[in-house]
Amino acid sequence: EEVASQIAAGEVVERPASVVKELMENSLDAGARRIEIRIANAGKALIEVTDDGCGIPAGELTLAVARHATSKLSAAEDLFRIATLGFRGEALASIASVSRLTLISREQNAEMGRKIVVEGGKLIANDAAGLPVGTLVRVENLFFNVPARLKFLKSDLTEKNQITQLVSRYALAYPQIRFRLMQDEREVLLSHGKNNRREVLAQIYGNDLARQMLEVELEDEDIRVRGFISPVGISRSNRREIVFFVNGRWVQDAGLSTALIQAYHTLLMVGRYPIASIFVEMSPEMVDVNVHPAKAEVRFRDADRVFRAVQRAVKRALLAYSP
Ligand code: ADP
Ligand code: MG
Repeated sequence: EEVASQIAAGEVVERPASVVKELMENSLDAGARRIEIRIANAGKALIEVTDDGCGIPAGELTLAVARHATSKLSAAEDLFRIATLGFRGEALASIASVSRLTLISREQNAEMGRKIVVEGGKLIANDAAGLPVGTLVRVENLFFNVPARLKFLKSDLTEKNQITQLVSRYALAYPQIRFRLMQDEREVLLSHGKNNRREVLAQIYGNDLARQMLEVELEDEDIRVRGFISPVGISRSNRREIVFFVNGRWVQDAGLSTALIQAYHTLLMVGRYPIASIFVEMSPEMVDVNVHPAKAEVRFRDADRVFRAVQRAVKRALLAYSP
């Protein structure tokens, strides 16, 4: 049982950044306006995510860390129109099986909050706790009981950069939410939550680059493509800074980036790649997100239409720009 749950955990939590991603997604699903992330020692010693979302009812904290327990899907058919980022009920259980996880939460209108501590999957504390409405998840000693995982992690610098990059992407995807990232007591990112994407862009890439990024904006019936792409002259030798969100979910979809790169290369230098953050919105029925445990892959009902919309949006942005 313990081994099985550690194996399952590996599919969801591969590294500190995957923990941060799952916890941020939970905060977003909870309707948080503010999300604060504290990291120590590249996430190996501490990952703490605090939000001002709806909180968890005191009686349901232990359920929240149980496997396959989700409050987000009520009927099987909901699977075909998933509107929340989470839906598998796996993340907290997985994380709790490979760390010491403290979950503190207070629901709207509740007089008190509740706190539980789970270590390597075992409940070791369950007490009343005082806190403002919202939720705090603290993950300590990640992978303490899975030494193979620990060994597989990259250098602290790499793991730290992955976390910073991840939080930056979410801050850009959700400009109406205030994100704050602290790494080893240092503030690495603060977005203001004023719903201004270019302002967030400036925080991530600096004022100069942010000013030069071209705006992508296209509506094709029920598909909406928005975001930014770098102009001619600002490019990279790899495709690592091409980022897609589909319906608020960060996806790594080869088809999407290939479509974008093709459009880029019909206009610009082959062998170079843009910096791009593209946000695609469509009705939830048009995309299947239940493909991969870490939810990083999606399947489109009509992929060609989505790819074409992205290509037209990108071409239009690039062509509108005259140096
Ligand atoms: P999922 O997100 O797929 O439902 P998780 O394991 O990530 O599964 O979370 C389990 C449950 O715990 C969620 O369905 C939700 O009810 C609750 N939960 C987790 N994090 C939060 C949070 N930050 N705010 C409110 N509820 C939360
Ligand atoms: Mg979740």
